Amino acid sequence: MPQDPGLPTVKISSRGADRVKSGHVWVYRSDIVSAEGVAPGAMVAVIDHRGKQLGTALYSSSSQIAIRMIAHEPVKDFPAVLRQRIADAIAYRERFVHNTDAYRVIFSEADLLPGLIVDRYNDILSVQVLTQAMDPALTRDTIISELAGRLHPASIFERVDPRVRDLEALPSRASELLQGEQTVTTFTMNGIQFGYDAVEGQKTGAFLDQRENYFASAHYAKGEALDVFCYQGGFALHLATRCSQVTGVDSSRPALEAAERNAALNSQKLGGKEKEIEWIEANAFDLLKDYSSADRRYDTIVLDPPAFAKSKRELDAALRGYKELNLRALKMLRSGGLLVTCSCSYHVSQSNFLEMLASAALDAHRTLRLIEVRGQAKDHPVLLNVPETAYLKCVIASVSS
Ligand code: SAH
Repeated sequence: MPQDPGLPTVKISSRGADRVKSGHVWVYRSDIVSAEGVAPGAMVAVIDHRGKQLGTALYSSSSQIAIRMIAHEPVKDFPAVLRQRIADAIAYRERFVHNTDAYRVIFSEADLLPGLIVDRYNDILSVQVLTQAMDPALTRDTIISELAGRLHPASIFERVDPRVRDLEALPSRASELLQGEQTVTTFTMNGIQFGYDAVEGQKTGAFLDQRENYFASAHYAKGEALDVFCYQGGFALHLATRCSQVTGVDSSRPALEAAERNAALNSQKLGGKEKEIEWIEANAFDLLKDYSSADRRYDTIVLDPPAFAKSKRELDAALRGYKELNLRALKMLRSGGLLVTCSCSYHVSQSNFLEMLASAALDAHRTLRLIEVRGQAKDHPVLLNVPETAYLKCVIASVSS
């Protein structure tokens, strides 16, 4: 296949080429043989060490992930590819995402748009630009006009992660509105309402990847429930539709304040029960220790901690952290109780996580029956040849003595 002679060329090692041939889209800097004169963020033709053409990629001059493949063939018109992929990503959600007006519209590599994340919260879009190649003004204009033309949001807000811009050697930039005026709205998932403020909160505002797990957990939940690491009440409010009493625990006061406002928004749906939801500001490890020593018992416990392993090196420490939490939760569940336990660390594999859980069950002298082993919601697609796109684990299990 002839490459566009206009594109700069990046030559990669045979190890890098094998990776590309296996369907992966990343090539690490250590596998770059030459990238002379290639501008930061450029679209490049990729060749192997023998000069064979492998396709087209986006280049980063500073990230350890030096190139991200976007096509196996030559690409002439990057804006045209962007527009088509945005249209495809939107069509995919129309087909597979239901029962929500908040979902991830574009998930970077998983939508073949590496470096771009777009979340929809009802009438507000929140955009994250994570690589050099997605940052130029022309690229941004194409993205924004395509999103606006197809989804007609009231506004588009850019959430900037300064750490990412730093790693990509991009000039610093403030989070701001890119279009429209509105930064506040309400969104509804599975019939539960949530307030949204584009400027505030963690990630782009909510943990949309858990949406289907909220629904599944609520389906099995009962009795007295404890939602540990509750953030703005995603699990807790879903559980409240089924459980007699719900307690949400988080170390972030602003998150708990938002959770309380969210509970009030659902007053009608919860038949006034929202007043019985208790929100506790605490370190989850301390609280679980105190509650288990005080012989507190629950019928449903959700554990959804932040990522404990941010790199492979942290795997053992992360597994110890997960085990401590799960062990305590298992001891606190009544017989017949429900454990919903999650990990969003990519470096902790599903088998690592299940092994940890099995070992915690053994130590806690409890019998665990797997009800569902789940992952991220379908608006966060998993590319089978890019394992890094599968990161969330959510295990729902029944516990008996
Ligand atoms: N379950 C939530 C998402 C949880 S994200 C949802 O579905 O929306 C992880 C949460 O853990 C964050 O809200 C963060 O504030 C909280 N957190 C982090 N460390 C903590 C700790 N040691 N104790 C309690 N909460 C903690």
